[in-house]
Amino acid sequence: MYNTQKVIQTVNGVSYEITVTRKKVKRMTLRIDRQGKPCLSVPEHVTREQIEDFLRSCSGWIAEHSGCRTFFSLPEELRDADEVMILGEKRRISIVRGAKASLSLRDEIPVLSVRVPEDPAGAAAAYDKTLKELALDVFRKRLELYADVIPERYGLPEIRVRKMTSRWGSASRKTGEIHLSLYLIKAPLDCIDSVVLHEAVHFTYMDHSEKFYEKLLARMPDYRQRSRKLKEYAGH
Ligand SMILES: [Zn+2]
Repeated sequence: MYNTQKVIQTVNGVSYEITVTRKKVKRMTLRIDRQGKPCLSVPEHVTREQIEDFLRSCSGWIAEHSGCRTFFSLPEELRDADEVMILGEKRRISIVRGAKASLSLRDEIPVLSVRVPEDPAGAAAAYDKTLKELALDVFRKRLELYADVIPERYGLPEIRVRKMTSRWGSASRKTGEIHLSLYLIKAPLDCIDSVVLHEAVHFTYMDHSEKFYEKLLARMPDYRQRSRKLKEYAGH
């Protein structure tokens, strides 16, 4: 049996999930699979350090060829009228001048206000930061809609948004927090809801037992279709 593991490699602030498989081969070979994900075959004796060194040396190639880049990444440069993905739609962004960086959706059009709209790297950095705020706002509102599945003693969980690429979310009863991936804001609202509800149900059942799914499906009968749709969107 092959020994497979996932390795996260970060290139210019963008994280890629790489499947590493140990095989009876002579050298390391990197390829992109049908889903656009990088896969690395390595000889059995190679150390983790050697794998990481090799991936670092190929990071440019990974960034260029990986299909994951489109979903689990944000633009490194942003100019007025560039396309960005928000809530399942590719939208042309309007970049305007403003004293403070902010991002809002006006009639479905994302409007990014930055101090220097002519600076594409600066605009991308502002987008990165403000998208997180927008995501937090959207996720909080969606959680409120499904808060009824959370036992009262926990109250409404705090949402934390991070650039997670290996999973969409996690929940902790201990801290009363739900962590969600920033990239989830690129998915359609019905997919976001499926993740939010999934994590909310973890406040009742920590595992993925039958009871967990019973409660989840009672509240969202088409949960599995939504999950599948999300996978297709993210190519993952
Ligand atoms: Zn879960």
